[in-house]
Amino acid sequence: MIIGCREGTQVDMMAAVEDPIARAASIVGRGGCVALTGAGVSVASGIPDFRSKGGLWDIFDPMEYATADAWESDPGKVWRLFRATGRMVLGARPNAAHESLARLEAGGWISAVVTQNIDGLHQAAGSRSVVEFHGSAVDVFCDACGRTVERREALGFLEGEGAPSCSACGGHVRPSVVLFGEPIPTGALRTAVSLAASCRSMLVVGTSAVVAPASLLPLEARAHGAPLIEVNDERTDLTDGCSVVLRGRAEEILPSLVEGVEAGATGFSRSNNV
Ligand SMILES: [Zn+2]
Repeated sequence: MIIGCREGTQVDMMAAVEDPIARAASIVGRGGCVALTGAGVSVASGIPDFRSKGGLWDIFDPMEYATADAWESDPGKVWRLFRATGRMVLGARPNAAHESLARLEAGGWISAVVTQNIDGLHQAAGSRSVVEFHGSAVDVFCDACGRTVERREALGFLEGEGAPSCSACGGHVRPSVVLFGEPIPTGALRTAVSLAASCRSMLVVGTSAVVAPASLLPLEARAHGAPLIEVNDERTDLTDGCSVVLRGRAEEILPSLVEGVEAGATGFSRSNNV
């Protein structure tokens, strides 16, 4: 489609075929694409990769603060991490990467975003079909009775000390973030695997895809014949298995991809009208 809408000399066609953005746009433009996103998508929103220098794991040893055992033995301690995460996430706004993915969904090219991020920024950008593989820092619930805590009440938990209590049952409340040693929420896992198994292509953005089971999703997609497109500013273990590799920052690459997909769609409908 991209090739068809360019003004047709053979040289132009070759250039279009070799341009990775155009190749990616032609794949995404077929529709049925699922995006798998990770930390790299939110860096431009001021949320450093937890694993990077200056990230949360630099301040809080994850094996001390972010495990199921820590939550069992000392929930007040884990809340120090939850408060730091909550303040960082609530102060952040979506960037061009989140907005581009929302636009691709609105245009009907992307069917869902599966994210390993816990910041809620895909939803804030307008994405509607979002699977939060590792839970959310902004959704708070009671660990004892399961009650969902309203956002306004949850915001109050950012102040104070220790683990806040549920106003209904007195149990400990917490964000739905998945801690180390806890399973991926069953619904999210089931939906993500089903999306990976049925997508027509997968756009893997800002993630080195090393943490299982999220890392298995691109492999599942590829096993079912869906081409993988990688958007990352560095090489990952997935790179060699990708059909197209777009090297650069997500917030810079994705707007170009959207432009390519939209141009392809316009060219397609124009040629249909002839
Ligand atoms: Zn409760």
